[in-house]
Amino acid sequence: MDLIRVINVEKQYKNGVTALYNLNLNIKKGEFVFVIGASGSGKSTLIKMMYREEKPTKGQIIIGGINVAKLRNGKVYKLRRKLGVVFQDYKLLPKLNVYENVAFALECIGMHKSEIRARVIKVLKLVGLKEKVKSYPDQLSGGEQQRVAIARAIVNDPKLLICDEPTGNLDPVTSMEIMSVLEAVNKKLGTTIIMATHDKDIVNRMKKRVIILDRGQLKKDSMEGAFSYESV
Ligand code: ADP
Repeated sequence: MDLIRVINVEKQYKNGVTALYNLNLNIKKGEFVFVIGASGSGKSTLIKMMYREEKPTKGQIIIGGINVAKLRNGKVYKLRRKLGVVFQDYKLLPKLNVYENVAFALECIGMHKSEIRARVIKVLKLVGLKEKVKSYPDQLSGGEQQRVAIARAIVNDPKLLICDEPTGNLDPVTSMEIMSVLEAVNKKLGTTIIMATHDKDIVNRMKKRVIILDRGQLKKDSMEGAFSYESV
């Protein structure tokens, strides 16, 4: 079953730049998909449209039955509950400790304390950070901060996890550790994962579906899980 359908999507920004041309894509529930391409090829634009940070100029994006572009502003929370987002720069709240950072979104939706506790501990175990619950972001390494960000993104058990260059600030060894965490989330929780990246080594090692964008167009969609330096 398709979790995401991108149908004839075009995105033109107000300054006249067309970031994506007539894009069509289907992503099934449970898939792990890389989106790659040179800087400026449209990766962030595609990803931002999925969580309704941007809207397509033409076409439709359907996520879990929700027509994202048509969603009224007051209903965007319905989409956001179905997905989690992880960014390159972690975006943790500096004054909250690890536990509080992960619990925050659940507290906002009024979940019971004991349920919050069970969920937070479960995801912190999954990302390998159970021992750091009381640490603050500035006491953690970059890799640990990204683990917290992943825990926070999955604590509400979303169907979709969107990752925008999640290893962009990390060294190669730490990057592969983060990829193991993402793979565990995909396998153990069944979460569909879309990850934009520049990192060729990661893509070549992981052997997942790879969508290549080139100047706003779909250049290749392959299951081979590898790409050469010539292909972007
Ligand atoms: P990538 O993530 O692959 O680097 P982007 O989606 O960020 O690519 O950018 C695609 C194109 O759209 C680029 O030409 C970029 O300059 C342009 N672009 C991105 N965001 C905006 C914006 N907010 N306003 C105008 N142009 C933008």
